[in-house]
Amino acid sequence: MSEIISGIAASAGIAIAKAFILENPELAIEKKTVENTGLEVERFSAAVEKAKGELQVIKENALKELGEDKAAIFAAHLLVLEDPELIDAVKTKIQNENVNAESAMDEISGMFINMFEQMDNEYMKERAADIRDVSKRVLAHLLGVQFSSPASISEEVVIIAEDLTPSDTAQLNRKFVLGFATDIGGRTSHSAIMSRSMEIPAVVGTKTVTEKISSGTMLIIDGLDGKVIIDPSNEELGMYKKKQEDYKAQKAEWAKLVNEKTTTADGHHAELAANIGTPQDVKGVLENGAEGVGLYRTEFLYMGRDQLPTEEEQFKAYREVLEKMEGKPVVIRTLDIGGDKELPYLDLPKEMNPFLGFRAIRLCLEQQDIFRTQLRALLRASAYGNLKIMFPMIATLVEFRSAKQVLLEEKEKLVNENVSVSDNIEIGIMVEIPSTAVLSDRFAKEVDFFSIGTNDLIQYTMAADRMNERVSYLYQPYNPAILRLIQMVIKAAHKEGKWVGMCGEMAGDPIAIPILLGLGLDEFSMSATSVLPARSQLSKLSKTEAEKHVETILNMDIAEDVVKFVNENF
Ligand code: PEP
Ligand code: MG
Repeated sequence: MSEIISGIAASAGIAIAKAFILENPELAIEKKTVENTGLEVERFSAAVEKAKGELQVIKENALKELGEDKAAIFAAHLLVLEDPELIDAVKTKIQNENVNAESAMDEISGMFINMFEQMDNEYMKERAADIRDVSKRVLAHLLGVQFSSPASISEEVVIIAEDLTPSDTAQLNRKFVLGFATDIGGRTSHSAIMSRSMEIPAVVGTKTVTEKISSGTMLIIDGLDGKVIIDPSNEELGMYKKKQEDYKAQKAEWAKLVNEKTTTADGHHAELAANIGTPQDVKGVLENGAEGVGLYRTEFLYMGRDQLPTEEEQFKAYREVLEKMEGKPVVIRTLDIGGDKELPYLDLPKEMNPFLGFRAIRLCLEQQDIFRTQLRALLRASAYGNLKIMFPMIATLVEFRSAKQVLLEEKEKLVNENVSVSDNIEIGIMVEIPSTAVLSDRFAKEVDFFSIGTNDLIQYTMAADRMNERVSYLYQPYNPAILRLIQMVIKAAHKEGKWVGMCGEMAGDPIAIPILLGLGLDEFSMSATSVLPARSQLSKLSKTEAEKHVETILNMDIAEDVVKFVNENF
């Protein structure tokens, strides 16, 4: 009898294959006395070299498959192995105390891990995790223990693991790894985001897959509905093979739309853009036929490092995106740090409510050196494409005016320095705080565009933390309160002849799309892999019909009724 485990659908598609259990074995370390310390040091150096060789391969793989920011994790691991403070301390310990390399490495790395872990600083704590990861790799070589590395897989499997670390994910070979399921994680966890960009079907957060599944068991991973089927019957296999074929056929249909414009059944054009986090993501944007970048989250440039990026580094990243997009619109958002996105090296005090705290534009307006450096980089890059600048977390008109003022000051300085800066940069804001949505008629007179950030707008309107499982039932994109706010923003913008986009997750949601079309949204910005399905859906919808239905929908009482109505009428 088959058994079905439910989890979170993290990456679409169906995978059918045998289970490969990815484990991290415990390493048993014994302390021994050695006579020939010279030989022992050599044995240690050889293990370090092997670990370096592995990391080099993983890093290059990550660079090709996942981009520079993910590859940087492994560059950091390599640096640990080149750090004389650690490596020389191990060698000295072997020589002075006549102990074996395993115990010397274990003790010295343990000392560093403890030291970093005790610091009240997230960045340093991450360094502890790096050292732990790297020292395990070296110890495995010393002990001759084989990790079940995803890189060693040479037949078709689905991976089962408690969680996948970035180094595991970077080693996945798409030819053999058909899918994966994990015990922990959510839709926005690291492994989930990576699986979507690699287009590997995945189910995460099942809580029990590692407990219930043993190696070699036949499995179906249903990344469309978030299910793992253990030991499927012939009937189930048949059913899911059909579902797999249907999904493949659907993807092939979508792929035909890659060079098409997005046109509704009644001839209306809607712009479909994609969200990115790094310049490497532009490849996916173009492959999926997006018409622009609707949101470039620049904070990733600032994360995973120990100091602020320089103006030159930022300029190169922004220019790369603009050049690759070849004149298509690119909306770059200024630094939106805070909430769940921390920058430990800024050493900001801990807050009771980080989502309501000192973040994003609030921080930029106070620490203006950080803001001005970014604006200069953006302005210089503007000469290389179609740049639009967007400020995050705007709550008042005073904030918008101040931010714009700083931008204009930097522009004037650059012009005086004879640096070329585009004269057509639109300046817009994220509408993600209810006060700004309510006052959008006033904002619309001063901004060039709005982009509605529903990820935050929903959490602030419903007072339901977007990261908290226990209140997730209140996180309701289809609540008429949210829909009315969106309508208010779109109407206000259109009255002043301004355009409105949406760059929150809701923009790519098949239930929301007909409503947003009816409300008159001009630009939908979503993850790149959602662009073609959205284009296909929009081509079958009529804008005039959607407009009619929207009146009914906005008069509903509860989110559930909205969903039912959309399912029955579109
Ligand atoms: C949003 O809040 O909707 C948004 C797009 O920004 P982020 O998810 O980066 O907060
Ligand atoms: Mg936001």
